[in-house]
Amino acid sequence: MVKDIGLDVPAPEQECEDVNCPFHGRLPVRGQVLVGTVVSDKMDKTVVIQRKHEMLIKKYQRYEKRQSKIQAHNPPCIDAKVGDVVTLAECRPLSKTKSYVVVKVGAQE
Ligand SMILES: [Zn+2]
Repeated sequence: MVKDIGLDVPAPEQECEDVNCPFHGRLPVRGQVLVGTVVSDKMDKTVVIQRKHEMLIKKYQRYEKRQSKIQAHNPPCIDAKVGDVVTLAECRPLSKTKSYVVVKVGAQE
């Protein structure tokens, strides 16, 4: 059974047994939806996402490039790899550093 997670993302083709999967487990998602690039998939069911953004520095009227890394849960049915652009959804904290889950490989507008 695939649940409707309340976001406009297609359900993954595979099924998984992960309780912390928003589609096949018991993990509600709510809050922010972000897009970023996977920079590490070395951890078990966890990926590191890098997001780049520009911030206006008022004094100089210029944009400064900033970047941040977020750790996110990577359910087996999605299985994002290094270099993938992924869509993340906010969920309850899954560990000390994880409170996002990958819901789609590809960017969401
Ligand atoms: Zn799943």
